[in-house]
Amino acid sequence: MPRPTSQLEVHKFGGASLADPQAVRHAVAIIQGRPAPRVIVVSAMAGVTDLLLETAGRARAGDVVAAYKASGLLRERHQGAVRALLPTGQLRNELLAFVDAQVDELETLAKGLSILRELTPRTSDFLVARGERLSARLVAAALQAAGVKTRYVDAADVVKTDAHFGNASPDLERTDAALRKALRPLLGQGGTPVVTGFIGSAPDGEVTTLGRGGSDLTASLVGRALAAARVNLWKDVPGLLTADPRVVPDARVLPQLNVREAAELAYYGAKVLHPRALIPVIGRKVPLFVRPFGEPAAAGTEVSERETGLDVPVKALSSAPGQALITVEGNGMLGVPGVAARTFAALQREQISVSLITQASSEHSICFCVPASSAERARGCLAEAFRDEIAHREIDGVAVRTGVATIAVVGLGMAGTPGVARRVFSALAEQGINVIAIAQGSSELNISAVVEEAQAKEAQRAIHAAFQLGKVGGGSVAPRDRLDIFLLGFGRIGRSFAELVGELPANGPKVRIVGVADRSGVVFDPAGLSPHRLASIAREKAKGHSLRHLDGGTPWNAEFAVRSATRHALSHPVLVDVTADETTAVVRGALAGGMDVVLANKKPLSGPGREAEELFEVARTHGRRLRHEATVGAGLPVMDTFSKLIETGDEIVSIEGCFSGTLGFLLSELERWKKFSQALQAAIDAGYTEPDPRDDLSGSDVARKALILGRMLGFKGEPASVVTESLVPEGARQLPLKQFLARLSAWDDWFAQKIRTAQQKGQVLRYVATVTPRRLRVGLQPVSADNPFAALKGTDNQIVFTTVRYREHPLVIRGPGAGPLVTAAGVLNDVLALARR
Ligand code: ADP
Ligand code: ASP
Ligand code: MG
Repeated sequence: MPRPTSQLEVHKFGGASLADPQAVRHAVAIIQGRPAPRVIVVSAMAGVTDLLLETAGRARAGDVVAAYKASGLLRERHQGAVRALLPTGQLRNELLAFVDAQVDELETLAKGLSILRELTPRTSDFLVARGERLSARLVAAALQAAGVKTRYVDAADVVKTDAHFGNASPDLERTDAALRKALRPLLGQGGTPVVTGFIGSAPDGEVTTLGRGGSDLTASLVGRALAAARVNLWKDVPGLLTADPRVVPDARVLPQLNVREAAELAYYGAKVLHPRALIPVIGRKVPLFVRPFGEPAAAGTEVSERETGLDVPVKALSSAPGQALITVEGNGMLGVPGVAARTFAALQREQISVSLITQASSEHSICFCVPASSAERARGCLAEAFRDEIAHREIDGVAVRTGVATIAVVGLGMAGTPGVARRVFSALAEQGINVIAIAQGSSELNISAVVEEAQAKEAQRAIHAAFQLGKVGGGSVAPRDRLDIFLLGFGRIGRSFAELVGELPANGPKVRIVGVADRSGVVFDPAGLSPHRLASIAREKAKGHSLRHLDGGTPWNAEFAVRSATRHALSHPVLVDVTADETTAVVRGALAGGMDVVLANKKPLSGPGREAEELFEVARTHGRRLRHEATVGAGLPVMDTFSKLIETGDEIVSIEGCFSGTLGFLLSELERWKKFSQALQAAIDAGYTEPDPRDDLSGSDVARKALILGRMLGFKGEPASVVTESLVPEGARQLPLKQFLARLSAWDDWFAQKIRTAQQKGQVLRYVATVTPRRLRVGLQPVSADNPFAALKGTDNQIVFTTVRYREHPLVIRGPGAGPLVTAAGVLNDVLALARR
């Protein structure tokens, strides 16, 4: 046993704690604020491991361009951080050269992969290990620049693992010895070693990785070897929570957990800790603390040998999605010894890890879960192992059911408490959730259930509520009623929306903006962007500055930014999309990542029918909501009215309307004999038009609205099937936007002529959409003076619902239907509706 030295502390900084230069500075400040001796363990900067894997994957698929794009991003991020953190001089130059060398090598490898089209786990490890090597060099240099005596330590030299590349396990004894030998002398000289997390070396010396999230494990290995007084894991969450906060919004911080409880949670999928992170410290007196990076003074969660809270049966739950349930079944198994042993031996030979096992007491079947990605291999090796029994019909075969998730309910207090399982299963039954299999460990520390993956989130919420885990001491992650908004698009609508949010009354639902993204970059802060900061971002943007260059800005694209936002402990996260871009993938990612979505952007719902349907499907399977009031008629209650009619059992026959505030404005200006060029310019200046006004003139914007409404009525057609009359004059269709805008007056007469012809017949022209379940048409319609559409002025929209109940006198909604402020108000309405769940 090592001498229980010390006051020694290990500090591990996760990816999110090293997201950008500002975060690295914060990490340095935390380290400086802690007493020596200390050892630092770092993972790669946020998103870097994913990017490295993406580079490798793209290269293997032969897409060198995409691979280089990803590697370019890596170079930019690390060099940007080096420049921001280190003063000019030798250290900085060395580090810049190191980044170059690492990325150059990556690119050479990528080129090779694209030719070979093969990527072995061994090569993959060699490739991704550089994420930690880069960040550890960076942190060491930043510490050195701050006057801390430090030394970079490559974990490949000190963490000894098996040869299971991609998910290697450490050899505890050899690692203990190597770590002590390398670190003690450094510590003895008063230095602070910085160790690369996540990586180790196989017996042949090749670099291995410990599996995703593996730097937690590195930290506990160091803590064990040096008998540290404590290991601090600095993360982007307030501590270990009763459940994943992205799934259960009222999850709470646990003040303390026993190591075995925490190990159980980690093993069953709690993403906050690597599944094997606690193995090295079980039975050792080395407590771990999961602590909030953003709040260094807060206590976080202690994970230790202590047993507390034994009066509550359940402390926390976790879930592993993406599992497959495998059943080996047959009458011939009854009473035959060794079937279970052979089953698991076969799986072990294939290195397939089994998470949950149940066996019917009749011994008629054995059932267990494996990751879905290993399901086919498992089936194959079992069919092989039991070939004779299957041939003789003693075993029916090996059945595989994919699309399931395991849920683990954990607490030392459940030992000997009767009725815990019953409470779990009745909570699930009340929600109509079917339990496919159950298992209880003999330690009575954990009850596990297998459910349909699509129901896993709902299942967790139900169990969390049934055991009142939201009331466990320690304080909640965030006020339960707060919505955290990620705002996509920061043009006029986005800025108006931000202003409206800033002006919300204090006694209503709390709404906070945590991220703003546009094509120029992202500013994201899980602690929230104050109205003051948002106003300053708006000012910088108005000066033409990119978001990526602002304080806290990153060059991430929206899809990546939203994905990474979903990993933060946000309270009721909502994606608000006010762009006019193709954002379907972003929206899908947000829904799948647990966000609700509010759209003003019409594109995701008015593209190919399959895509739009899929979004609603993803929302449904993830228990999320997708609202889109502002896609038609800006802030007018169009969708709201629609749902109210349907909810009360009415049936909609058709919808007719003038949905284009822009065209409405333009036509009524033309009627007053304004020139087309002047009228259109006025519409642009007022923010009524789409970025390219021809999207309004061509009718395509109205066609999109018609399609969205049509689909709500059951219209099955594609965008091309909307009959659309374009008002873009021939000859103006192909022009670049700039030239089109420069030549507007060329079409003044063409428009004046159209108006004149109608007026001679005593009519006015309106751009009308007609929507029925079978046919969608948008175009100019001459209407006589007594038609209600004739009276429309300016940007006003009018929407007419003809329904079974409102047949003689259709239901009419009318009011302003364009402009940043009313659109933003429509969006805010949707957001507030989400708060009223
Ligand atoms: P690190 O930065 O150290 O790699 P991780 O990102 O791996 O940290 O772990 C923190 C994430 O784990 C949080 O973003 C949170 O969404 C997720 N998580 C899942 N389950 C829990 C839980 N029970 N308690 C805290 N966080 C959890
Ligand atoms: N960088 C590695 C990962 O992203 C290891 C870690 O973060 O702990 O999985
Ligand atoms: Mg992690």
